[in-house]
Amino acid sequence: MTLLGKFEKLREDRTALLATGADPFGMPIDELYSPTEARIAGRRVLLAGTNNYLGLTFAPECLEAAHAAIDHDGTGTTGSRMANGSFAGHRALEREIAEFYECRSAIVFTTGYQANLGMISGLTRPGDVLMIDADSHASIYDGCKLSGAEVLRFRHNDAADLRKRLTRLGERAASTLVIVEGIYSMLGDRAPLAEIVAATRECGSCLLVDEAHSLGVLGEYGRGLVEEADVLSQVDFILGTFSKSLGSVGGYCASNRPELDLIRYASRPYVFTASPSPSVIASTRAALRLLRNGKDLRVRLWEHARKMYGGLKRLGYRLGPEPSPVVAAILDSREQALTLWRGLFERGVYVNLVFPPAAPGDKSLVRCSVSAAHSAAQIETLIGAFAELRDPVLAAGRDVNSACAPSLRSS
Ligand code: PMP
Repeated sequence: MTLLGKFEKLREDRTALLATGADPFGMPIDELYSPTEARIAGRRVLLAGTNNYLGLTFAPECLEAAHAAIDHDGTGTTGSRMANGSFAGHRALEREIAEFYECRSAIVFTTGYQANLGMISGLTRPGDVLMIDADSHASIYDGCKLSGAEVLRFRHNDAADLRKRLTRLGERAASTLVIVEGIYSMLGDRAPLAEIVAATRECGSCLLVDEAHSLGVLGEYGRGLVEEADVLSQVDFILGTFSKSLGSVGGYCASNRPELDLIRYASRPYVFTASPSPSVIASTRAALRLLRNGKDLRVRLWEHARKMYGGLKRLGYRLGPEPSPVVAAILDSREQALTLWRGLFERGVYVNLVFPPAAPGDKSLVRCSVSAAHSAAQIETLIGAFAELRDPVLAAGRDVNSACAPSLRSS
Protein backbone atom coordinates (compact mmCIF):
# COMPACT_ATOMS: atom_id res chain seq x y z
CA MET A 1 0.00 0.00 0.00
CA THR A 2 1.25 3.50 -0.80
CA LEU A 3 1.85 6.05 1.92
CA LEU A 4 -1.42 7.85 1.29
CA GLY A 5 -3.34 4.82 0.05
CA LYS A 6 -4.24 3.83 3.58
CA PHE A 7 -6.51 6.86 3.86
CA GLU A 8 -8.88 5.36 1.27
CA LYS A 9 -10.85 3.38 3.87
CA LEU A 10 -11.13 6.46 6.09
CA ARG A 11 -12.32 8.49 3.12
CA GLU A 12 -15.00 5.89 2.33
CA ASP A 13 -16.17 5.74 5.94
CA ARG A 14 -16.40 9.53 6.14
CA THR A 15 -18.22 9.81 2.84
CA ALA A 16 -20.75 7.22 4.02
CA LEU A 17 -21.20 9.07 7.31
CA LEU A 18 -21.69 12.45 5.62
CA ALA A 19 -24.23 10.88 3.25
CA THR A 20 -26.44 10.26 6.29
CA GLY A 21 -26.73 14.05 6.60
CA ALA A 22 -24.66 14.54 9.74
CA ASP A 23 -21.05 15.24 10.59
CA PRO A 24 -21.02 14.28 14.25
CA PHE A 25 -17.24 14.48 14.48
CA GLY A 26 -16.87 17.95 12.98
CA MET A 27 -19.65 20.07 14.45
CA PRO A 28 -19.10 23.83 14.02
CA ILE A 29 -19.66 25.76 17.24
CA ASP A 30 -20.95 29.16 16.10
CA GLU A 31 -21.35 30.83 19.47
CA LEU A 32 -21.19 29.89 23.12
CA TYR A 33 -23.87 31.39 25.40
CA SER A 34 -22.92 29.74 28.69
CA PRO A 35 -21.37 26.49 29.98
CA THR A 36 -24.60 24.70 29.03
CA GLU A 37 -25.89 26.48 25.90
CA ALA A 38 -24.52 27.27 22.45
CA ARG A 39 -25.43 27.79 18.81
CA ILE A 40 -24.09 24.87 16.82
CA ALA A 41 -24.57 24.43 13.07
CA GLY A 42 -27.11 27.26 13.22
CA ARG A 43 -29.20 25.72 16.00
CA ARG A 44 -29.52 26.77 19.65
CA VAL A 45 -28.66 23.68 21.68
CA LEU A 46 -28.32 22.39 25.20
CA LEU A 47 -24.75 21.17 25.79
CA ALA A 48 -24.60 17.83 27.57
CA GLY A 49 -21.28 16.28 26.62
CA THR A 50 -18.75 18.90 27.63
CA ASN A 51 -16.99 17.29 30.67
CA ASN A 52 -17.44 20.75 32.20
CA TYR A 53 -18.47 19.04 35.43
CA LEU A 54 -18.45 22.10 37.70
CA GLY A 55 -19.42 24.56 34.94
CA LEU A 56 -16.47 26.86 35.67
CA THR A 57 -15.63 27.93 32.09
CA PHE A 58 -17.40 31.27 32.60
CA ALA A 59 -16.76 31.71 36.34
CA PRO A 60 -16.06 35.45 36.86
CA GLU A 61 -13.04 34.67 39.09
CA CYS A 62 -11.46 32.58 36.32
CA LEU A 63 -12.20 35.10 33.56
CA GLU A 64 -10.78 37.94 35.63
CA ALA A 65 -7.61 36.01 36.51
CA ALA A 66 -7.04 35.07 32.86
CA HIS A 67 -7.52 38.66 31.66
CA ALA A 68 -5.11 39.99 34.29
CA ALA A 69 -2.47 37.38 33.38
CA ILE A 70 -2.64 38.30 29.67
CA ASP A 71 -2.18 41.97 30.54
CA HIS A 72 0.71 41.20 32.88
CA ASP A 73 2.59 38.31 31.20
CA GLY A 74 1.40 38.33 27.58
CA THR A 75 -0.34 35.71 25.49
CA GLY A 76 2.15 32.84 25.54
CA THR A 77 5.39 31.48 26.98
CA THR A 78 6.84 30.76 23.52
CA GLY A 79 8.84 27.78 24.69
CA SER A 80 9.61 24.96 27.08
CA ARG A 81 10.27 25.65 30.75
CA MET A 82 13.55 23.80 30.44
CA ALA A 83 14.81 26.29 27.85
CA ASN A 84 12.80 29.45 28.53
CA GLY A 85 12.28 29.24 32.30
CA SER A 86 9.25 28.92 34.58
CA PHE A 87 6.88 31.85 35.07
CA ALA A 88 5.75 32.66 38.62
CA GLY A 89 2.32 31.27 37.74
CA HIS A 90 3.69 27.83 36.77
CA ARG A 91 5.57 27.56 40.04
CA ALA A 92 2.62 28.80 42.11
CA LEU A 93 0.20 26.39 40.46
CA GLU A 94 2.55 23.47 41.12
CA ARG A 95 2.76 24.48 44.80
CA GLU A 96 -1.02 24.81 45.00
CA ILE A 97 -1.63 21.40 43.42
CA ALA A 98 0.86 19.82 45.84
CA GLU A 99 -0.91 21.51 48.78
CA PHE A 100 -4.31 20.44 47.46
CA TYR A 101 -3.21 16.78 47.58
CA GLU A 102 -1.06 17.26 50.71
CA CYS A 103 1.82 15.95 48.62
CA ARG A 104 5.50 16.84 48.48
CA SER A 105 5.42 18.26 44.93
CA ALA A 106 3.59 18.49 41.63
CA ILE A 107 4.45 18.97 37.96
CA VAL A 108 2.31 20.81 35.43
CA PHE A 109 2.16 19.59 31.82
CA THR A 110 0.77 21.42 28.80
CA THR A 111 -2.18 19.03 28.32
CA GLY A 112 -3.66 16.08 30.19
CA TYR A 113 -2.69 13.87 27.27
CA GLN A 114 0.93 14.98 27.70
CA ALA A 115 0.74 14.41 31.46
CA ASN A 116 0.14 10.72 30.77
CA LEU A 117 2.77 10.60 28.03
CA GLY A 118 5.25 12.48 30.19
CA MET A 119 4.73 10.52 33.40
CA ILE A 120 4.53 7.06 31.86
CA SER A 121 7.51 7.51 29.54
CA GLY A 122 9.42 9.37 32.27
CA LEU A 123 8.90 6.62 34.85
CA THR A 124 9.39 3.50 32.75
CA ARG A 125 11.76 2.30 30.06
CA PRO A 126 12.50 -0.96 28.17
CA GLY A 127 12.89 -3.73 30.77
CA ASP A 128 10.20 -2.26 33.09
CA VAL A 129 6.57 -3.39 33.09
CA LEU A 130 3.40 -1.34 32.65
CA MET A 131 0.32 -3.07 34.08
CA ILE A 132 -2.71 -1.15 32.87
CA ASP A 133 -6.47 -1.55 33.09
CA ALA A 134 -7.68 -2.90 29.72
CA ASP A 135 -10.11 0.03 29.30
CA SER A 136 -7.47 2.71 29.74
CA HIS A 137 -7.67 6.04 27.91
CA ALA A 138 -5.75 6.47 24.63
CA SER A 139 -3.24 8.79 26.34
CA ILE A 140 -2.27 5.95 28.69
CA TYR A 141 -1.84 3.54 25.77
CA ASP A 142 0.21 6.14 23.88
CA GLY A 143 2.38 6.81 26.93
CA CYS A 144 3.04 3.07 27.12
CA LYS A 145 4.19 3.02 23.49
CA LEU A 146 6.50 5.96 24.06
CA SER A 147 8.08 4.34 27.13
CA GLY A 148 9.15 1.11 25.40
CA ALA A 149 8.36 -0.89 28.58
CA GLU A 150 6.52 -4.20 28.36
CA VAL A 151 2.77 -3.57 28.47
CA LEU A 152 0.44 -6.01 30.23
CA ARG A 153 -3.27 -5.51 30.71
CA PHE A 154 -5.56 -6.71 33.46
CA ARG A 155 -9.33 -7.12 33.14
CA HIS A 156 -11.20 -3.84 33.55
CA ASN A 157 -11.76 -2.98 37.23
CA ASP A 158 -10.78 -6.50 38.31
CA ALA A 159 -8.43 -6.19 41.30
CA ALA A 160 -8.19 -9.99 41.66
CA ASP A 161 -6.95 -10.28 38.06
CA LEU A 162 -4.44 -7.49 38.74
CA ARG A 163 -3.17 -9.28 41.85
CA LYS A 164 -2.82 -12.56 39.94
CA ARG A 165 -0.81 -10.95 37.17
CA LEU A 166 1.44 -8.97 39.54
CA THR A 167 2.13 -12.12 41.57
CA ARG A 168 3.03 -13.96 38.38
CA LEU A 169 5.65 -11.29 37.63
CA GLY A 170 7.65 -12.27 40.72
CA GLU A 171 10.63 -9.97 41.21
CA ARG A 172 9.68 -7.92 38.15
CA ALA A 173 6.70 -6.56 40.12
CA ALA A 174 9.18 -4.18 41.77
CA SER A 175 9.87 -2.53 38.41
CA THR A 176 6.17 -2.38 37.48
CA LEU A 177 3.95 0.69 37.23
CA VAL A 178 0.23 -0.06 37.65
CA ILE A 179 -2.13 2.46 36.03
CA VAL A 180 -5.84 2.94 36.64
CA GLU A 181 -8.35 5.75 36.25
CA GLY A 182 -10.61 7.23 38.94
CA ILE A 183 -13.86 7.49 36.97
CA TYR A 184 -13.64 5.87 33.53
CA SER A 185 -14.40 8.36 30.81
CA MET A 186 -16.70 6.30 28.63
CA LEU A 187 -19.10 4.51 31.00
CA GLY A 188 -18.58 6.51 34.18
CA ASP A 189 -17.68 3.55 36.39
CA ARG A 190 -15.03 3.93 39.11
CA ALA A 191 -12.04 1.77 39.89
CA PRO A 192 -12.16 -0.47 43.01
CA LEU A 193 -9.28 1.62 44.29
CA ALA A 194 -8.85 0.26 47.83
CA GLU A 195 -8.39 -3.27 46.44
CA ILE A 196 -6.10 -2.04 43.68
CA VAL A 197 -3.94 -0.17 46.20
CA ALA A 198 -3.75 -3.28 48.41
CA ALA A 199 -2.70 -5.55 45.52
CA THR A 200 -0.14 -3.06 44.24
CA ARG A 201 1.44 -2.48 47.65
CA GLU A 202 1.57 -6.16 48.54
CA CYS A 203 3.44 -6.88 45.31
CA GLY A 204 5.83 -3.93 45.71
CA SER A 205 4.75 -2.11 42.53
CA CYS A 206 4.05 1.61 42.04
CA LEU A 207 0.56 2.96 41.32
CA LEU A 208 -0.51 5.89 39.14
CA VAL A 209 -4.16 7.00 39.23
CA ASP A 210 -5.51 9.19 36.43
CA GLU A 211 -8.23 11.35 38.01
CA ALA A 212 -9.13 13.18 34.77
CA HIS A 213 -12.89 12.59 35.22
CA SER A 214 -12.99 12.40 39.02
CA LEU A 215 -11.16 15.62 39.97
CA GLY A 216 -13.78 18.01 41.32
CA VAL A 217 -16.38 15.26 41.14
CA LEU A 218 -15.51 12.86 43.98
CA GLY A 219 -14.35 13.47 47.55
CA GLU A 220 -15.27 16.16 50.07
CA TYR A 221 -12.74 18.61 48.62
CA GLY A 222 -13.00 17.28 45.08
CA ARG A 223 -9.64 15.51 45.12
CA GLY A 224 -11.14 12.55 43.31
CA LEU A 225 -11.33 8.84 43.93
CA VAL A 226 -8.11 8.88 45.99
CA GLU A 227 -9.97 11.06 48.49
CA GLU A 228 -13.29 9.23 48.34
CA ALA A 229 -11.60 5.84 48.84
CA ASP A 230 -9.34 7.34 51.54
CA VAL A 231 -6.12 6.10 49.92
CA LEU A 232 -4.56 9.42 48.95
CA SER A 233 -1.33 8.84 50.87
CA GLN A 234 -0.96 5.31 49.48
CA VAL A 235 -1.03 6.22 45.79
CA ASP A 236 2.40 6.98 44.32
CA PHE A 237 1.34 9.30 41.50
CA ILE A 238 -1.94 11.22 41.17
CA LEU A 239 -2.46 12.55 37.68
CA GLY A 240 -5.17 14.72 36.20
CA THR A 241 -6.19 17.29 33.66
CA PHE A 242 -7.27 20.93 33.76
CA SER A 243 -9.60 20.42 30.79
CA LYS A 244 -12.65 19.10 32.61
CA SER A 245 -13.60 20.30 36.12
CA LEU A 246 -11.04 23.13 35.99
CA GLY A 247 -12.37 24.44 32.68
CA SER A 248 -9.04 25.21 30.96
CA VAL A 249 -6.33 23.06 29.35
CA GLY A 250 -3.27 21.36 30.83
CA GLY A 251 -2.36 18.42 33.04
CA TYR A 252 -0.54 17.62 36.27
CA CYS A 253 0.94 14.94 38.43
CA ALA A 254 1.29 15.16 42.24
CA SER A 255 3.38 12.82 44.37
CA ASN A 256 5.21 12.32 47.65
CA ARG A 257 8.01 10.59 45.77
CA PRO A 258 11.11 12.84 45.63
CA GLU A 259 11.81 11.41 42.17
CA LEU A 260 8.88 13.41 40.79
CA ASP A 261 11.09 16.50 40.55
CA LEU A 262 13.60 14.54 38.46
CA ILE A 263 10.92 13.49 35.97
CA ARG A 264 11.23 16.98 34.49
CA TYR A 265 14.67 16.03 33.18
CA ALA A 266 13.67 12.54 32.00
CA SER A 267 10.37 13.27 30.30
CA ARG A 268 10.39 14.26 26.64
CA PRO A 269 6.72 15.43 26.63
CA TYR A 270 7.70 17.86 29.41
CA VAL A 271 11.02 19.02 27.95
CA PHE A 272 10.19 19.32 24.27
CA THR A 273 7.02 21.36 24.23
CA ALA A 274 5.98 24.89 25.17
CA SER A 275 4.66 25.42 28.68
CA PRO A 276 1.06 26.52 29.28
CA SER A 277 0.13 30.14 28.57
CA PRO A 278 -0.04 32.55 31.53
CA SER A 279 -3.80 33.04 31.11
CA VAL A 280 -4.37 29.28 31.20
CA ILE A 281 -2.34 28.95 34.39
CA ALA A 282 -4.12 31.91 36.00
CA SER A 283 -7.66 30.68 35.27
CA THR A 284 -6.67 27.18 36.43
CA ARG A 285 -5.41 28.55 39.75
CA ALA A 286 -8.68 30.43 40.26
CA ALA A 287 -10.69 27.36 39.28
CA LEU A 288 -8.74 25.15 41.70
CA ARG A 289 -9.79 27.42 44.57
CA LEU A 290 -13.43 27.24 43.46
CA LEU A 291 -13.18 23.47 43.04
CA ARG A 292 -11.72 22.94 46.50
CA ASN A 293 -14.50 25.00 48.10
CA GLY A 294 -17.10 23.68 45.68
CA LYS A 295 -19.11 21.33 47.91
CA ASP A 296 -22.38 22.93 46.75
CA LEU A 297 -21.38 22.44 43.13
CA ARG A 298 -20.66 18.75 43.80
CA VAL A 299 -24.04 18.31 45.54
CA ARG A 300 -25.82 19.78 42.51
CA LEU A 301 -23.68 17.77 40.08
CA TRP A 302 -24.56 14.52 41.81
CA GLU A 303 -28.27 15.38 41.98
CA HIS A 304 -28.20 15.79 38.21
CA ALA A 305 -26.08 12.66 37.72
CA ARG A 306 -28.47 10.46 39.71
CA LYS A 307 -31.52 11.97 38.02
CA MET A 308 -30.10 11.50 34.53
CA TYR A 309 -28.87 7.95 35.19
CA GLY A 310 -32.16 6.93 36.85
CA GLY A 311 -34.22 8.57 34.08
CA LEU A 312 -32.42 6.84 31.23
CA LYS A 313 -32.35 3.52 33.07
CA ARG A 314 -36.12 3.66 33.62
CA LEU A 315 -36.58 4.35 29.91
CA GLY A 316 -34.76 1.08 29.19
CA TYR A 317 -31.45 2.38 27.90
CA ARG A 318 -28.47 0.20 28.65
CA LEU A 319 -25.97 2.21 30.74
CA GLY A 320 -22.71 1.80 32.64
CA PRO A 321 -22.84 -0.02 35.98
CA GLU A 322 -23.30 2.93 38.34
CA PRO A 323 -24.59 6.51 38.46
CA SER A 324 -21.98 9.11 37.59
CA PRO A 325 -21.79 12.52 35.89
CA VAL A 326 -20.81 10.51 32.79
CA VAL A 327 -23.98 8.81 31.55
CA ALA A 328 -23.58 6.83 28.34
CA ALA A 329 -26.21 4.87 26.43
CA ILE A 330 -24.62 1.69 25.07
CA LEU A 331 -25.74 0.75 21.57
CA ASP A 332 -24.93 -2.33 19.58
CA SER A 333 -24.47 -0.72 16.19
CA ARG A 334 -23.09 2.51 14.81
CA GLU A 335 -26.36 3.11 12.98
CA GLN A 336 -28.38 2.85 16.15
CA ALA A 337 -26.03 5.25 17.94
CA LEU A 338 -26.10 7.68 15.02
CA THR A 339 -29.92 7.61 14.94
CA LEU A 340 -30.04 8.47 18.63
CA TRP A 341 -27.32 11.13 18.39
CA ARG A 342 -28.95 12.80 15.37
CA GLY A 343 -32.40 12.66 16.96
CA LEU A 344 -31.05 14.37 20.06
CA PHE A 345 -29.41 17.09 17.98
CA GLU A 346 -32.64 17.69 16.08
CA ARG A 347 -34.32 18.15 19.47
CA GLY A 348 -31.70 20.72 20.49
CA VAL A 349 -29.40 18.50 22.57
CA TYR A 350 -25.70 18.12 21.74
CA VAL A 351 -23.86 15.14 23.24
CA ASN A 352 -20.90 12.92 22.30
CA LEU A 353 -21.11 10.13 19.73
CA VAL A 354 -18.48 7.44 20.25
CA PHE A 355 -17.74 4.72 17.74
CA PRO A 356 -15.47 1.68 18.22
CA PRO A 357 -12.64 1.35 19.07
CA ALA A 358 -12.90 4.44 21.34
CA ALA A 359 -15.53 2.75 23.51
CA PRO A 360 -14.89 -0.46 25.43
CA GLY A 361 -16.11 -3.81 24.11
CA ASP A 362 -16.55 -2.70 20.50
CA LYS A 363 -19.73 -0.82 21.37
CA SER A 364 -21.02 2.50 20.13
CA LEU A 365 -22.02 5.05 22.72
CA VAL A 366 -24.14 8.14 22.97
CA ARG A 367 -22.28 9.70 25.86
CA CYS A 368 -23.59 12.53 28.02
CA SER A 369 -21.89 14.37 30.81
CA VAL A 370 -23.91 16.47 33.23
CA SER A 371 -22.68 19.65 34.88
CA ALA A 372 -23.35 21.54 38.10
CA ALA A 373 -24.17 24.44 35.77
CA HIS A 374 -27.19 22.61 34.31
CA SER A 375 -30.56 23.57 35.74
CA ALA A 376 -33.02 20.92 36.92
CA ALA A 377 -35.20 21.89 33.93
CA GLN A 378 -32.33 21.24 31.51
CA ILE A 379 -31.86 17.76 32.94
CA GLU A 380 -35.60 17.14 32.44
CA THR A 381 -35.27 18.36 28.84
CA LEU A 382 -32.41 15.91 28.28
CA ILE A 383 -34.33 12.96 29.68
CA GLY A 384 -37.39 14.03 27.68
CA ALA A 385 -35.40 13.99 24.43
CA PHE A 386 -34.09 10.48 25.19
CA ALA A 387 -37.68 9.40 25.97
CA GLU A 388 -38.99 10.62 22.60
CA LEU A 389 -36.23 8.73 20.80
CA ARG A 390 -36.41 5.40 22.54
CA ASP A 391 -38.78 3.75 20.07
CA PRO A 392 -37.14 5.01 16.84
CA VAL A 393 -33.77 3.96 18.22
CA LEU A 394 -35.06 0.49 19.00
CA ALA A 395 -36.46 0.30 15.47
CA ALA A 396 -33.10 1.33 13.96
CA GLY A 397 -31.48 -1.38 16.06
CA ARG A 398 -33.92 -3.98 14.73
CA ASP A 399 -33.27 -2.93 11.13
CA VAL A 400 -29.53 -3.05 11.40
CA ASN A 401 -28.84 -5.72 13.91
CA SER A 402 -31.55 -7.80 15.47
CA ALA A 403 -29.40 -8.35 18.54
CA CYS A 404 -29.58 -4.66 19.47
CA ALA A 405 -33.18 -4.25 20.50
CA PRO A 406 -33.36 -6.92 23.21
CA SER A 407 -30.11 -5.70 24.74
CA LEU A 408 -31.47 -2.17 24.97
CA ARG A 409 -34.72 -3.35 26.48
CA SER A 410 -33.32 -5.87 28.89
CA SER A 411 -31.25 -3.37 30.88
N1 PMP B 1 -6.88 10.91 30.77
C1 PMP B 1 -8.18 10.59 30.63
C2 PMP B 1 -8.74 9.47 31.43
C3 PMP B 1 -8.99 11.31 29.75
O1 PMP B 1 -10.27 11.00 29.60
C4 PMP B 1 -8.41 12.38 29.01
C5 PMP B 1 -9.22 13.23 28.04
N2 PMP B 1 -10.46 12.90 27.77
C6 PMP B 1 -7.06 12.65 29.17
C7 PMP B 1 -6.33 11.90 30.07
C8 PMP B 1 -6.39 13.72 28.36
O2 PMP B 1 -6.69 14.97 28.87
P1 PMP B 1 -6.71 16.29 27.95
O3 PMP B 1 -7.88 16.16 27.03
O4 PMP B 1 -6.89 17.36 28.95
O5 PMP B 1 -5.43 16.36 27.23
